[in-house]
Amino acid sequence: MQAQSGTLFTISAPSGAGKTSLVRALVDAEPSLQVSVSHTTRPIRPGEMDGVNYHFCDRPAFESMLAESAFLEHAEVFGNLYGTSQHFVEEQLAADADVILEIDWQGARQVKNLLPASCSIFVLPPSEAALRERLSQRGQDDEDTIEHRMAAAESEMSHYVEADYLVINDVFEEALLELQAIVRSQRLQTHKQAHRHAAQLGALLG
Ligand code: 5GP
Repeated sequence: MQAQSGTLFTISAPSGAGKTSLVRALVDAEPSLQVSVSHTTRPIRPGEMDGVNYHFCDRPAFESMLAESAFLEHAEVFGNLYGTSQHFVEEQLAADADVILEIDWQGARQVKNLLPASCSIFVLPPSEAALRERLSQRGQDDEDTIEHRMAAAESEMSHYVEADYLVINDVFEEALLELQAIVRSQRLQTHKQAHRHAAQLGALLG
């Protein structure tokens, strides 16, 4: 897979760090950014839509896609399988678009190994208390699940050291500006700009 002027971003965070809201706001602010919709075997939650939040599928369907090498990366998280469509990412990068994958640290590690030029971002909450509060407030999980997620968060968070960029989501607007700065800096890399503006640069420099 050859990225031309586009960048493949991965963004990882423990659940409750505010990653999904940040990505939504980031895509609004940077419309050229395409979000990949993952496949998952996780049951659909109230309010979610098939094909929008995820492509929901059963384990046999996921496994047959896996056997056909349909996934750029995949991982098991909280007992469910998740995977990124190789085809979608390839298509977007071939069209010089930027793509963002909201994936866990295992997937981010696979993508980095496969495509070292990709850009990995990790989002952390400002404190354990803030994480717990956000998990309770979103009302998606019962107390047991929240405790389970808090315990899992600690080991997940230790993987921030593997990422290229670290954003601490204390003040939402600030974290959003930081994400925009990361996206824009990648977009402005000389070889990407040269590809994007080849005709203009040719005319300028002869
Ligand atoms: P949730 O089920 O709460 O939406 O997501 C659980 C975890 O799975 C989150 O950390 C999320 O980023 C991760 N995840 C979602 N899609 C993918 C994917 O395609 N690949 C990987 N590796 N992780 C994913």
